[in-house]
Amino acid sequence: MTTLTSPARTARQELAGFQGRLIGPDDADFDARRAVYNAMIDRRPGLIARCAGPDDVAMAVGFAREHGLLLAVRGGGHNGAGLGTCDEGVVIDLSQFKDVEVDPQARTVRVGGGCTWAEVDRATNAHGLATPSGIISTTGVGGLTLGGGLGHLSRKCGLAIDNLLEADLVLASGERVRASADEHPDLYWAIRGGGGNFGVVTSFLFRLHDVADVFGGPTFWPVEQAAEVLSVYREFLPGAPRELNGFFAFHTVPPAPPFPEEIHLRQVCGIVWCHVGTEEAATRDMAPLLDAVPEPLMHGVQTMPHPALQSAFDGLYPAGHQWYWRADFVNTIPDAAVDIHARFGATMPTMQSTMHMYPIDGAVHDVEASDTAWSYRDATWGSVFAGVDPAPANVGAIRRWSVDYHEALHPYSAGGAYVNMMMDEGQERVRASYRGNYDRLARVKSEYDPGNLFRVNQNIQPAA
Ligand SMILES: Cc1cc2nc3c(=O)[nH]c(=O)nc-3n(C[C@H](O)[C@H](O)[C@H](O)COP(=O)(O)OP(=O)(O)OC[C@H]3O[C@@H](n4cnc5c(N)ncnc54)[C@H](O)[C@@H]3O)c2cc1C
Repeated sequence: MTTLTSPARTARQELAGFQGRLIGPDDADFDARRAVYNAMIDRRPGLIARCAGPDDVAMAVGFAREHGLLLAVRGGGHNGAGLGTCDEGVVIDLSQFKDVEVDPQARTVRVGGGCTWAEVDRATNAHGLATPSGIISTTGVGGLTLGGGLGHLSRKCGLAIDNLLEADLVLASGERVRASADEHPDLYWAIRGGGGNFGVVTSFLFRLHDVADVFGGPTFWPVEQAAEVLSVYREFLPGAPRELNGFFAFHTVPPAPPFPEEIHLRQVCGIVWCHVGTEEAATRDMAPLLDAVPEPLMHGVQTMPHPALQSAFDGLYPAGHQWYWRADFVNTIPDAAVDIHARFGATMPTMQSTMHMYPIDGAVHDVEASDTAWSYRDATWGSVFAGVDPAPANVGAIRRWSVDYHEALHPYSAGGAYVNMMMDEGQERVRASYRGNYDRLARVKSEYDPGNLFRVNQNIQPAA
């Protein structure tokens, strides 16, 4: 093991045959290439290995291992905690891994490890098909999937990992393997929720569902009515048909179309709907909630292509904002928790700050807690408290709001959190988020990455 003064310069000498680009601090585009989605994360890697294919990935993995360098893997670069980059070490940049191949007969899609969901959704929608992902189309397939994948289609089709059929990986040893139910089943189990702990995924194969158009969009009420709406929502949603997803949220109405001018910049609580079915069925399925709450400020639902709903938030949350978030899994929402939500919803510090409460039931509950690494199959919601703002000067305020909101509600939570929505919160928090699956994950880790080369993630430490 050697310490390098310039990993990029050494890599250019040692990695003959590397087909992509080896980018270092001396390159003109270094700052552009090292930037990640969350502008609070300002890291300076020693080398960004922009890989052109799996052989490049194996070379970059070997280079980091041989020189004892910290190694980060960057899929979409969206991770809130900045886990797609690192200081001084090597970043494997997968942004060239953009292949998307839909097989409409087999109803599968093969996806390069550096794709964003926008690229996948566009390709599958052309065949009237979709696989479940999240709620923003600029997010990377890599990180979102490996951590679980919670979004608009979860109740109907399960998590992203519940539709992951196989993955091709480069391991810490440099070996290339396929993980599926038949090949390396222990690895296949671990990557479905265990994050980037086990290797670099160069391609994913997902199952597709008949989802072309959806009926969806937001319904907003004044934030002052949050307690009333949330009290109805908490009873309604778990009993609603699986075709209907609706996450509860706090937002400030953006001052732009399609929102009516009279509610621009108004703080609201809302439900963002996604119904996989006809307008008639959606209207019927939403009615028990809408009939039981006050008249909304806006009921902005309509039929639209699935990718349109998936990208509806993209404009509000471009890359380059400051993000600080905390999260928790939730089983039930007692009255005391409703009151806390109402209090913090009314004190959002900035226009983009938000709270989302994503349903975790329906098809997500069809899978047992030990069937995949994602252990919180019995939770009912995953909540995230996100402080967001373009201005670095507001970091203190957004961080404080997120932490205070989380700490006030944590006693009413199920204990752990969705790893994809955590910051750097320590080992105990990671353990709590995997519960009974942690020890098995640690054993799989010790088999595939005994030296913990892949540790820029919500880390699972190899079993002794
Ligand atoms: C605006 C926004 C909206 C979001 N919405 C949702 C949502 O609706 N649902 C949801 O479930 N999550 C959501 N997330 C969270 C998201 O899932 C995580 O931030 C995730 O880590 C992003 O993946 P990425 O590939 O873009 O991240 P990166 O920063 O590139 O990577 C994150 C982690 O994943 C690992 N990783 C990424 N790709 C690979 C790969 N190919 N092989 C091995 N390891 C890899 C990295 O090593 C790193 O540890 C959202 C995040 C943001 C910022």
